[in-house]
Amino acid sequence: MAKVNQTPMMVQYQKIKDQYPDAFLFYRLGDFYEMFNDDAVKGAQLLELTLTSRNHSSKNPIPMCGVPHRAVQNYIDILVDRGYKVAICEQMEDPKLAQGMVKREVIQLVTPGTQTDTGAGNAKDNNYLTALTQVKNKFGFAYADLSTGELKVTSLTDFDAVLNEVMSLQTKETVVDKSVSKDVLEQLQTVGILISHQDETEVKSELSYLTQGVTAPEQLTVLNHLLTYIITTQKRSLAHLQRAVMYEPTFFLKMDHYSQRNLELIQNMRTGKKSGTLLWLLDETKTAMGGRLLKQWLDRPLVSRKHILARQKKVSVLVDQYFERNSLQEELTKVYDLERLAGRVAFGSVNGRDLIQLKTSLKQIPKLQHILNELPDAVFDDIYDRLDPIDNVTDVIDEAIVDEPPLSVTDGGVIKDGYDKTLDSYRQAMHNGKQWLAEMEASERKATGINNLKIGYNRVFGYYIDVTKTNLDKLPEGRYERKQTLTNSERFTTPELKEKEHLILEAEEKSTDLEYKLFVKVRELVKKNIQRIQSLAHAVSELDVLQSFADISEKYRFVAPTFTKSGHDLEIVEGRHPVVEKVLGRQTYVPNDVKMPEETSILLITGPNMSGKSTYMRQLALTVILAQMGCFVPAKSAKMPIFDQIFTRIGAADDLISGESTFMVEMKEANEALAHATANSLVLFDEIGRGTATYDGMALAQAIIEFVHDRIHAKTLFSTHYHELTVLDKSLAHLKNVHVGAVEKNGELVFLHQMQDGPADKSYGIHVAKLAGLPDSLLKRADKILTHLEKTQDQHASVQVAAEDKPVQPEPQPQPKPQPKPQPAEPVTETAEATDADTQLSLFGEPEKKATKADKVAAQVKALNLMGLTPMDVMNQVYKWQQELTQSRKKR
Ligand code: ADP
Ligand code: MG
Repeated sequence: MAKVNQTPMMVQYQKIKDQYPDAFLFYRLGDFYEMFNDDAVKGAQLLELTLTSRNHSSKNPIPMCGVPHRAVQNYIDILVDRGYKVAICEQMEDPKLAQGMVKREVIQLVTPGTQTDTGAGNAKDNNYLTALTQVKNKFGFAYADLSTGELKVTSLTDFDAVLNEVMSLQTKETVVDKSVSKDVLEQLQTVGILISHQDETEVKSELSYLTQGVTAPEQLTVLNHLLTYIITTQKRSLAHLQRAVMYEPTFFLKMDHYSQRNLELIQNMRTGKKSGTLLWLLDETKTAMGGRLLKQWLDRPLVSRKHILARQKKVSVLVDQYFERNSLQEELTKVYDLERLAGRVAFGSVNGRDLIQLKTSLKQIPKLQHILNELPDAVFDDIYDRLDPIDNVTDVIDEAIVDEPPLSVTDGGVIKDGYDKTLDSYRQAMHNGKQWLAEMEASERKATGINNLKIGYNRVFGYYIDVTKTNLDKLPEGRYERKQTLTNSERFTTPELKEKEHLILEAEEKSTDLEYKLFVKVRELVKKNIQRIQSLAHAVSELDVLQSFADISEKYRFVAPTFTKSGHDLEIVEGRHPVVEKVLGRQTYVPNDVKMPEETSILLITGPNMSGKSTYMRQLALTVILAQMGCFVPAKSAKMPIFDQIFTRIGAADDLISGESTFMVEMKEANEALAHATANSLVLFDEIGRGTATYDGMALAQAIIEFVHDRIHAKTLFSTHYHELTVLDKSLAHLKNVHVGAVEKNGELVFLHQMQDGPADKSYGIHVAKLAGLPDSLLKRADKILTHLEKTQDQHASVQVAAEDKPVQPEPQPQPKPQPKPQPAEPVTETAEATDADTQLSLFGEPEKKATKADKVAAQVKALNLMGLTPMDVMNQVYKWQQELTQSRKKR
């Protein structure tokens, strides 16, 4: 790429840039990092910098922009957060001493997946870099968090599984090799993941222990590529990377990312934030590492009874021991992020303050041990044994590092007095020198009679005697040598002062140099203990999550669930949706039972809109997840089998907001549940089939229910607005009807949010219409149509209603006929469906031919009772209208 007439510097730049074509190259030039050419044009735009140029007088000026080196981290963060990579190119020698071109090298490639300084706000998040390789039909998959050193590897059998891992780890970057197919790459890119290619392998021998014990070829390959990528981008010590841990997704309760999202475990569907999620409710962790572990546990609840019960037992003990729990929390609050501190120690980026944090944290460990000792039960023994106070580290930091060190490790002031004799002697010299200066100042003031004469210091001119202009005439001629003239004063020196200056500065320089050396020595000693710090960190985070479980279990009146030894008996008494309850308040929330004994596999849930069907279903899923994490559950009592997987499918109508509103997506998701669910799974189908025409949807819904009933036997909650389906309990032995009750109170309809046995009242919609005051004649007519529909529903075929029974349009006609009685203001609709004459009634007879689609929509808009609808209903309705209008336009 070298162009003719390029300066040596641009040749060097281009040579380096060619090695990092997909990154912004930050090229160090004095106090700035410069970008050139395309990097500069794009960088100036993204970072809001001024774009200038080099050689602007020439024919081909080179676009250029720069950022000051002191503020570089901000700029790097902005680019990396946006999904770009930044190569940091440093001057490798002092420009003053260099002969010819200053040597420059890239010292680090910062990428979204390898970013470790993610800011304090993200302390409770991991940043995972993932890697993928494809061997025939198998995938090797690995991930690492560079800030904590975590490294995991597994084999996956299909791409869906890969996608699930990638989504639930919230990775921003995946390292792939040539074996990964284009199709897979494209799919990863569509979910916003940055793809980085790594085909060569060069894992240094000192890192080979990281893959020890890994034998599956696809796992070894993917680990080697991941590690090579990390080594080549980081170019720094990776001593904190932990040996790869193999895991199987089947060790955990499987939930696809769709279900995780839908159940709002860690991300609120509307806001994308933590607030309003299960994590938000559960997180009473006191340390950042505990916060991260909680998220991991929430991501992967357990399936092993033994492991679940082991956690649950610990939670029980802490629930009972209020005082010990309180003291634990108090002590944990003082523990800093040991995992990330270990990472910074390895990278060599740790400073004095970090070491003090490490010391403070380690000093908490004996206190934690002491509290665990007080507990009546031995269940915490395994954690107790891992609480290693690492005394040698505490001691050395205690001896060497001052209690309040500065941020910088190179400017001195980090090492304690008395730690090193030589350092003490330099400090003595500095101290003496400064003493001497103070004495000189006093004696000169006396000698000259100038009371505001002072001795000062600056970096360029060194020590000086400052005399203000007004006092200059008091100064005897020739007493001092002139050094510098300012607006208001003159600065002087003397041979004596010069000599002292030399001594002081020399002592200072030697002292800071030595301090840095001593600091590095301490750091290296700490580095030798990284693995101990890491395993301590694990123990502390575990303790933190368990106390958090105990805390919320008590606060929100959770109980310990029991697990059936065999069979699929499920009984939740007075269960609650903990997040909705927290938001609504304890008084408002209505608890509900879920009773699904061995012989019941499907609960068919009917009830009006907004009555609580979806909440009820999610409530069960959250209860299962909490139970299998080892936490207590929001209920009066709970007995359940251990589930292997959870599937949730929300009908397209409810999922409009996500933009994936097509019926196709709904069916795909349903298919995934049907293909993978087992008798040990929990399946939630929420108003499935809603995204298509009535009969279509109903037919599919019924077929799905039958399929689950006859072949899968999974515990299934199926909510539906098709009342027609409730007759299925006659033919399907393992299906039970439940519904959400509502009552009329003072002429108003009140949702009880209470689950009751049996199907919902079918004339519910008409009931609502009556409450709203629709004309009697209209209601009678509606009743008649309903009776007719009920008679014919078994045939599941389009039926022509007899001529005199011509359907009534629920919405007012463009020219309403005069009525004897006063008209109600507006007809009321139960659901979006019920207002829609086209999709509902037209199935049973021809829709009005004369009125155009637009007229009809207009009429429906007029008739809509906004106050009786939820925002979601309105969205659904508008969506439907749009569809109708665009369809009719297409036809024309
Ligand atoms: P549906 O799915 O039947 O339309 P939702 O489950 O979405 O209804 O619930 C609608 C609203 O009703 C919720 O947002 C909540 O405010 C309230 N709700 C649901 N269940 C309960 C309950 N058990 N107790 C109190 N309020 C509830
Ligand atoms: Mg719902």
